[in-house]
Amino acid sequence: GTAPTQYGRVMLKISGEALMGDQGYGLNPPTVERIAREVESVAAMGVEVCMVIGGGNIFRGLQGSAQGMERTTADYMGMLATVMNALAMQSSLEARGLYCRVISAIRMDEVCEPYIRRRAIRHLEKKRIVIFAAGTGNPYFTTDTAATLRANEMNCEAIFKGTKVDGVYDKDPKKHADAKRYENVSYDEVLQKHLGVMDASAIALARDNRLPIIVFSLDEPGGFRSILAGEGTYTRVH
Ligand code: UDP
Repeated sequence: GTAPTQYGRVMLKISGEALMGDQGYGLNPPTVERIAREVESVAAMGVEVCMVIGGGNIFRGLQGSAQGMERTTADYMGMLATVMNALAMQSSLEARGLYCRVISAIRMDEVCEPYIRRRAIRHLEKKRIVIFAAGTGNPYFTTDTAATLRANEMNCEAIFKGTKVDGVYDKDPKKHADAKRYENVSYDEVLQKHLGVMDASAIALARDNRLPIIVFSLDEPGGFRSILAGEGTYTRVH
């Protein structure tokens, strides 16, 4: 169905852990499917959807290097983990009859397309969902920074960061009953107070390009769609 929305093109960033469900590791197919349905309902509004999925449910570079692995090698393993998550999401979206492309920052032509900016834009114009995999392609970065980078390159109007809570709080709302949610917060306040929306390089890249970050709960069914329709609770970082 169609609901009015001010958004033409958006970036959805989710962590790898969002695909894990109740498991401690890896991919939980019903959870992947649940998120695919959320994306489907937004695509049905006519919104062009970009996605970046992290890899933390499979591997994190910092964790590997803490165990003695060379950092850049560990980071490449983390980037490869994001490709697996992207393929799982592509499969789930396609099972729902949606058109989707996985585009990797690291070439692996047998598996998915390489990143070519104009081609990615063309996919979006044709209403294909584009999942950007392998992060930025560089070690020492995160998928939050990759999402911000690609959102800028694709001229997205905002990044939607799906989390376990419905916005940015002054302290952890799962631990403190009196935690207060921000409606609006500036990039600089997020950085100064270490509010943990995204890592500092991602926040700075969004700030310098005036790209709003909408932090919302991915656990709320229909949440992504309702925010695009101008409802629901969330925090706008701008
Ligand atoms: N990574 C990287 N460069 C990037 C993006 C990701 O090296 O541009 C690696 C890094 O090791 C990171 C891992 O991939 O720990 C998984 O990404 P991230 O931690 O951002 O995943 P999330 O926390 O969102 O699940």
